Amino acid sequence: MSTSTSRPAGLPHFAVAGIGAGPANLSFAALAEGTVPGAVALFDRRGSHAWHPELMHPGARLQTSWVKDLVTLVDPRNRFSFLNYLVTTGRIYAFLNAQFEAIPRLEYDRYLAWASGELGTIRYGVDITAISFDGVFVLGSGDRPVATADHLVLGLGTRPYVPDCFELPGPHGVLLAEELTGHFTGCRPGPHETAVVIGGGQTGAEAVLSLLRLGLREIRWIGRRPWFAPMDDSPPANDFYRPAYVRHFQSLPAHVRDSVATNQILTSDGVSMATLQELYQVNYEIRLAEGRSPVMMLPGRDVVGAVERQGSVVLRCRRLGGGQEQHSARHVVLATGRRPAPLPLDPELLDLAPGEEPVIEADYSLRWKHGDTNRIFAQNRAQSSHGVVDPNLSLLSVRSAVIINSLLDRSVFSIRDEQVHTLWA
Ligand SMILES: Cc1cc2nc3c(=O)[nH]c(=O)nc-3n(C[C@H](O)[C@H](O)[C@H](O)COP(=O)(O)OP(=O)(O)OC[C@H]3O[C@@H](n4cnc5c(N)ncnc54)[C@H](O)[C@@H]3O)c2cc1C
Repeated sequence: MSTSTSRPAGLPHFAVAGIGAGPANLSFAALAEGTVPGAVALFDRRGSHAWHPELMHPGARLQTSWVKDLVTLVDPRNRFSFLNYLVTTGRIYAFLNAQFEAIPRLEYDRYLAWASGELGTIRYGVDITAISFDGVFVLGSGDRPVATADHLVLGLGTRPYVPDCFELPGPHGVLLAEELTGHFTGCRPGPHETAVVIGGGQTGAEAVLSLLRLGLREIRWIGRRPWFAPMDDSPPANDFYRPAYVRHFQSLPAHVRDSVATNQILTSDGVSMATLQELYQVNYEIRLAEGRSPVMMLPGRDVVGAVERQGSVVLRCRRLGGGQEQHSARHVVLATGRRPAPLPLDPELLDLAPGEEPVIEADYSLRWKHGDTNRIFAQNRAQSSHGVVDPNLSLLSVRSAVIINSLLDRSVFSIRDEQVHTLWA
């Protein structure tokens, strides 16, 4: 790891600056402690720690084993393990006796908050809006520089994807799943207000359940796939979430990787079986009590148009079996997926065309002209080169370990994945 000498005066300087303090960069900072020489700092635009707070629905569960925490898969003795969190916060016995099959999402958030506090290297309330290079990286927030760094680790996360037909200024009454709770705060909807949820994944299913909890009884759930598919959590599906498979995926020709990843998408983007069961059971029980099912399932529809008409949003849908149909509702909730957040890098750094994604190497570094001396790593934006695992929590610690090994140019962490019984083609 090399460090630069010429630095703009008066700014705090770090060996490594991590932009974003979500799970990806928390994992990096946790493993960097004691291994990466010089100061490591994380910057986050949020005022304090929070993990997808707008989607923290009651009862929501993590879709990943807690063993796959910030550090354990590569460094089980690290002080930032989930087990250490349980022990040092005094909840280990209560946690064990609760016998969770999948832990509450809220518990994972509490764990991240604990790790963030223990790290003590996070600068909250700093939105990094521009990063330029002048012998060192100069991090800017608004119109002022705030820090310099020799190396960068970008952990910017994702933001909701809005289909073209809803681009702002879209019809009134359309909201993101993230806005649902706030939307109804202080104005509880009547049971006969109508709502459509668009998006057949976990966020869509949770939005439907939230609307039911709010008392709505006229809900339509639209998904593009032919059915509301559960997440495949089987052993062969989980094989895609191990380092050996990531290596295999990287060895595939670039032109086949996208279709391979697309075929595996239900191992990541399907709905948790427990959520689907809850939804079907609530729908059934409300029909028992009230004589009418509150949720109509509408799979196999692609929403291609949206207009506002007399206080409702009218949706035009293309049907999988051919033809079109319309659905209208007072509220339309978008749960239509997420895309990587925009890079705050000065355009000349990477020389990319607008909207173009940078090339991400096997070690998660970005190709750029001073990449030999000043490294830029990117977390959670390498699905096309590293496979379906990349946007997930499963191999967070492995990805951070690969980055640290590359940054220090030696094998600080050994990544062992033996006993592979599958020969992928
Ligand atoms: C509701 C929900 C539940 C999920 N549950 C699971 C699960 O159970 N299992 C699983 O494997 N995956 C899950 N995922 C997918 C994924 O693992 C998470 O989105 C995860 O949080 C990604 O981590 P991250 O650190 O890359 O991004 P994020 O958690 O999004 O963190 C990025 C951080 O960067 C900050 N930031 C961004 N840009 C800037 C900037 N320019 N300057 C300063 N700060 C910035 C943001 O404020 C944010 O705090 C879930 C996703 C969602 C939305």
